Parts: sequence; C-alpha cells; structure tokens
Amino acid sequence: MSIFSPLVLHQPASISEAVALLAAGGRDCAPLAGGTWIMRAPIRHEAPPPVFVSLSKISALSAIAISEERVELGAAVTHAALAEAVAGYPDLQVLAEAAGRSANPAIRATATIGGNLCTTSFPAADLLPALLSLDAEVDLARSQGRERLSLEVFLERRAALVPGWLLTRVVVPREAGRSAHARLPLRKAGDYPVAIVSVAIRLCERDRVTKACVAIGAVETVARRWRSLEAVLLGEPVDPERAGAAAERLLYEITGREGIEAPGWYRVHVLPSLVRRAMAGIAESLSSGNSRPCRSP
Ligand SMILES: Cc1cc2nc3c(=O)[nH]c(=O)nc-3n(C[C@H](O)[C@H](O)[C@H](O)COP(=O)(O)OP(=O)(O)OC[C@H]3O[C@@H](n4cnc5c(N)ncnc54)[C@H](O)[C@@H]3O)c2cc1C
Repeated sequence: MSIFSPLVLHQPASISEAVALLAAGGRDCAPLAGGTWIMRAPIRHEAPPPVFVSLSKISALSAIAISEERVELGAAVTHAALAEAVAGYPDLQVLAEAAGRSANPAIRATATIGGNLCTTSFPAADLLPALLSLDAEVDLARSQGRERLSLEVFLERRAALVPGWLLTRVVVPREAGRSAHARLPLRKAGDYPVAIVSVAIRLCERDRVTKACVAIGAVETVARRWRSLEAVLLGEPVDPERAGAAAERLLYEITGREGIEAPGWYRVHVLPSLVRRAMAGIAESLSSGNSRPCRSP
C-alpha cells in the first residue's frame, strides 16, 4: 500500500483530538506530517500503517515564536519556514543552515521539524545535530498528559515510546552566542548528507569560549553530542585549525556506520574538515557582525 492510499486518513483540528486518535489506533496508526519520509516507505521495503493521523489542520503545530530567551517551534513547521524565520540571528545560524540546506527546495517546503526528529530510522537528519548543539527540548503530548524532555533524552527513549504520543513543540533556549552547521552531501544537492557537524558556542569578553556544544549527525546511527571535543574548545579562542586538529586526535572514539552513500571510515575521516568549516563559519560571523539582535554572548 502507498502513502497516497491509506485505508483511513484522519484530519483532526486539535492536538488533543490527534492524540486521542493515535492512542485509539495503537500500532496500526501513525502521525502524517510532511510525508517526505513516509512516501518513500516502498523504496525501503516497509509497509506503512493502515491509519494515518494528519497534522496539517492543527494550526498550533505550525506556530513559530522567537523571543530573546527562547525559540518555540510547532512540530509541523517546515524546514523552509524555519530557515526563513531564524535567518540572520547569529546564535541560530546553525538552525538556519540546517533547515535551509537540507534536501532540496520542494522537500524543504513540505518536510517538518517533527518528522525530522521522530524518524527513528533516519540517521542523516539535519535538524537533529543542529538542535542538539543548541540544547533544545521537545514537548510530547499523550492522552495521559504532556511532558517536556531534553532532545538527548528523547533520542534515547524515542524508539521505545508506546504508540499514542505526538511531538508537539521544540523549544530552543537562546544561550549560544554564535553557531554554525557544516554538512557533506556526497554528490549533489538533495542527497542525504554523509556527515554533519553542528557547533554552538558562547564567548566571554576576552573572546574565549565559555560554553561549547558540538554535535555530529549521519556518521553513527543516531546524532549525538561530541563532548570530548567540546572540552578541548573550552577556554580557547575560536580557532578553526586548532579545533580541526583536536577533532583528528579524537576520531578514535567514533565508529562510522556503513551505508549505500559512503562507508563508515569515510564518514569519520571527513569530520575534522567539517569541524574546521563550522568553526570558520563562526569566526567569520564574529568578524563580520550581524544585523539581527541576539543575546549578548
Ligand atoms: C529526496 C529527499 C532528500 C532528503 N534530504 C534530506 C536531508 O538532506 N536532510 C534532512 O534532514 N532531511 C532530508 N529529507 C527529508 C526527510 O524525509 C525529512 O527531513 C524528515 O525526516 C521527514 O519529515 P516529514 O514531515 O516529511 O515527516 P513524515 O514523512 O510525515 O513522517 C516521518 C515519521 O515521523 C513521524 N512523525 C511525523 N511528525 C511527527 C510528530 N509530530 N510526532 C510524532 N511522530 C511524528 C511519522 O509518523 C513518521 O514515522 C529528504 C527527503 C527526500 C525525499
């Protein structure tokens, strides 16, 4: 069966209605957001569930709110809407680049942040490492109530969640001063990235790094923080070469996954150059200044 002919397609108008439908449907039922992952189920030899709960009519899920303290993103915000909303904020640059360079324009107009974070079997999701580097949290709704989890904890629990939950919102604290996203698609725009590095840093007045968050994606089966590299960056100025050299020394910690686009060793091999590129983006942002306001680093 294809996504275009589900046996049942519900179109609820509220989160509570959607959650009730998902709970009633159990394992035979799933949320349908942009459908860009679900539509490829036949290519992956997967059978989609017979019942979908569309999120398209729930207006709260498309809301974007940006304040000085945080960014709140409804789960059905598309990559394109996200890229446009956060463009020009130096602390959110990682998010603008992740959302604005993923896939291709047609996919970005449809694919959602919730779909990106909830697809358990998609190791190359761009928004995941970007949001990990920004210490994001996610709100989950179920018929029993709502819960906020750090994105890291959500990723640990995601595969084991009992059907009936819905990711409703992503909350990004604005604690970084500068950030950047570096990705390597192997052949052309639109390919899944082979490796991703997202970096967010805060600086003191003497331009030394006081907080560093580095996340890698597409290299292993799930995106994750690279904490040993973060420790090396602390207390130092922004120095792309030094950061790249430190990444080279720490590569022994990472085992790349095998995949049709690239072998595991290659995904690991390109990480230092992606770290250099991300740090160079941050250095450039610091030297050029930026037009939209952010919290002082
Ligand atoms: C050709 C192509 C290239 C692509 N390249 C990239 C790329 O480079 N980088 C990238 O990041 N992405 C890429 N993608 C897009 C990728 O499919 C999406 O980023 C994302 O993973 C799916 O978002 P969606 O809204 O379409 O989700 P859907 O396909 O609607 O759903 C995906 C899964 O998430 C579940 N789900 C959706 N929303 C929720 C929710 N709110 N709560 C709970 N579960 C939910 C669904 O039930 C389903 O299991 C590409 C897609 C295509 C087709």
